[in-house]
Amino acid sequence: MIEMSEVYKTYPNGVLAINGIDIMINQGEFVYVVGPSGAGKSTFIKMMYREEKPSSGKIVINGVDLSQLKESKVPMLRRSIGVVFQDFKLLPKLTVFENVAFALEVIGENPKTIKKRVLDVLDLVQLKHKARFFPDELSGGEQQRVSIARSIVNNPAVMIADEPTGNLDPDTSWEIMHLFEEINNRGTTIVMATHNKEIVNTMKKRVIAVEDGKIVRDEARGEYGIYD
Ligand code: ADP
Ligand code: ADP
Repeated sequence: MIEMSEVYKTYPNGVLAINGIDIMINQGEFVYVVGPSGAGKSTFIKMMYREEKPSSGKIVINGVDLSQLKESKVPMLRRSIGVVFQDFKLLPKLTVFENVAFALEVIGENPKTIKKRVLDVLDLVQLKHKARFFPDELSGGEQQRVSIARSIVNNPAVMIADEPTGNLDPDTSWEIMHLFEEINNRGTTIVMATHNKEIVNTMKKRVIAVEDGKIVRDEARGEYGIYD
């Protein structure tokens, strides 16, 4: 569960990026965050995994009040949230297997468990046969599938994606969306910022529209709207 109440965010340069947001997202929901560039979508979702802190207001993620969270507990929070980016952010010198295994190695998981978990999630994203490849040997869609595998290898309750199809062609974007849908069907909450109008209008999920740092629309089976 994700809850924000009276959240404001002003960046150090004085830009008011989030101007009073109240929201509740329940476990298992699939939510699109839409709006024009500069509206505050990235800031909104970055606050969910503590990449940015609000200037004021309350944020509770999976029962954890982020304002009470000690810095030492931030890694634990991050492990309960999978994050996927537009530019994949894979480690170029590590293989596909190693990129996915990394998150489990840092928590000291045993090698046998790591191997099983990594191969299971690579199977889910249909890339087990490329486990020994390096990121630059993969297509953009394949790299995004690796990054999705990496984000779910810890079984997070919540998955956050910032423009995950922004660098992909339409067919590949649809493959990636179907993968997100499959992960959501297993009970994972998904919050995704996107400019992909066709996908939002076809999938008919909850849509939260952000403009000038405020939620201007929140619909259960929403549409993309008039943004570019
Ligand atoms: P969106 O994701 O909808 O494009 P952002 O959350 O990235 O919007 O940005 C919201 C506003 O905050 C914009 O005016 C942007 O320029 C500003 N902003 C974003 N990140 C920073 C930052 N690190 N420092 C200062 N201003 C920022
Ligand atoms: P299965 O037991 O399901 O047949 P494999 O053990 O053959 O799976 O591994 C599938 C892929 O993952 C192969 O490409 C293999 O080389 C790779 N792989 C398995 N374990 C590791 C590891 N510890 N480090 C790097 N790659 C690995």
